[in-house]
Amino acid sequence: MRLCDISLRDFRNYEQLQLSFYPGVNLIVGDNAQGKTNLLEAIAYLGSGKSFRAQKTGEMVRFHADFAEIQGNLFSQERQQSLRWVLFPGAKPRQLWRNGAKKKSAAEISGMLSTVLFCPEDLMVLKTGSAPRRRLGDQALCQLRPNYDAALAEYNRILEQKNRILKDRHENPALLEILPEYNARLCQVGALLISYRARFYESLGKAAGEYHSQFSGGAEDFTLEYKTVSTVKDPFAPVGELNDALLEHLNSHYRAELESSQCLTGPHKDDFSVYLSGIDLKAYGSQGQTRTAAISLKLAQRELMRRESGEEPILLLDDVLSELDPGRQDFVLNKIVSGQVFITCCEPGRFTKLGKTIEIEKGKVKNLAPRIYEGGGCEAAGGSI
Ligand code: ATP
Ligand code: MG
Repeated sequence: MRLCDISLRDFRNYEQLQLSFYPGVNLIVGDNAQGKTNLLEAIAYLGSGKSFRAQKTGEMVRFHADFAEIQGNLFSQERQQSLRWVLFPGAKPRQLWRNGAKKKSAAEISGMLSTVLFCPEDLMVLKTGSAPRRRLGDQALCQLRPNYDAALAEYNRILEQKNRILKDRHENPALLEILPEYNARLCQVGALLISYRARFYESLGKAAGEYHSQFSGGAEDFTLEYKTVSTVKDPFAPVGELNDALLEHLNSHYRAELESSQCLTGPHKDDFSVYLSGIDLKAYGSQGQTRTAAISLKLAQRELMRRESGEEPILLLDDVLSELDPGRQDFVLNKIVSGQVFITCCEPGRFTKLGKTIEIEKGKVKNLAPRIYEGGGCEAAGGSI
C-alpha cells in the first residue's frame, strides 16, 4: 500500500497543505514545532481513524477553525482509492468517506491504509519496565489477529472484576463464593492469550533478528524470549494444558491474593526479553544496541503484517535519527528498501538515496510552490512497489 498524496485543511498547525509523496522514503525535515509530527499524525489518522497523540478529536482541529479535513489518495488492494475525514472541534461526530461514499465507522476502511509508528518513547522500550513491552506486543498482535483482540478485551474485563471482588470482599465476604468461577474463566482465556503470544513472539523474534543483523552489519545475534507464568513449561502446549498450568499457579497464590487484595498471577504479567549474542539487553545493552533492537522489532511487526495481508504497512519513524550513530542512521535512511517510509528529523543536511526530502516550516512546505510538492504521485509510482 502507498499513500500518493495528502491534502490538509485546518489540521493542527496546517491551514492548507497539498503534498504528493514518493513511493519509497519521504524524509520530512524542519526545526522543532513546525508540524513534522502533525503530518505523521494526519497520515496515521487517515488510515485508522485513531490518533497516536490526541486525547480528543477536537485537538486536531486548528485553533479557532470550524472543522479540519484530511484527504488522501492511495494505492491499496491493487487499485487507486481515496479517503477523507472531516473532524469537528466540539461534540459533533466526525465524518468519513471512502472513494466518495460516506461511511459510518472506521471499521469500514480497515486494511486500506495501515501504518506502523515508531516514536522516541519506543526507543527505550527494551530497557524500561514490562508494561510498555506488553503494550507493544499486544498492539501488534491485536492488529494481526482480531480474535486475540477480543480475547484480550475479555481477559482484562474478567481481571478487573476479579480485582474488584478481592477488594470488596472485606465488606461482603459472600463475594468469595463466586471467585472460583472468575478464576476458571480467567485461566481459560489466559491460556488462549499465551497460545497466541507464543507463536507471535516466535515469528516476531525471527523477523527482528534478520533486521537487526542487517542493522548491525551482522555483528550481533538477536534472539527474543517470551516469558510467561512459571508453571507453563511449554507455551506451545495445547490450550487445555496451558489452562491447567495457569490454574495450578493461581491456586498456589490464593492466600497471597487475599492478603494483597489483587490478582497476582496470570498472563497480564507476561514479558519478553531480547538477547544480543546471548547477553541480556535489558541489563547489559548499550543505548545504541537497545535502540537498534527496538527499531528492528517495529520493522519485524511491519513484516508480519505484510505476510498476513499481502500489503506492506507504511512505516512512520518520528524523530529517531538523532539517537543513532552514523552507520545506523545510514541504515534507516538508505537501507529500508521495502514499502513506503516517512522519517522526520530536525537536522538539516540529511538526505536519503531512496526518496525525497520535504522541508516543513510553520505548517507549510518550504521553498516550493505551496500547492503541490513534486514528489511522484500514484501515476509515477506505477503498479506494485
Ligand atoms: P519537534 O521537532 O519538536 O518534534 P514537530 O515539527 O514535530 O516538532 P509538531 O508536534 O508537529 O512539531 O507541532 C507543531 C506545532 O503545532 C506546535 O507548535 C503546536 O503548538 C501546533 N499545534 C498543535 N495542535 C494545534 C492546533 N490544534 N491548532 C494549531 N496549532 C497546533
Ligand atoms: Mg515532532
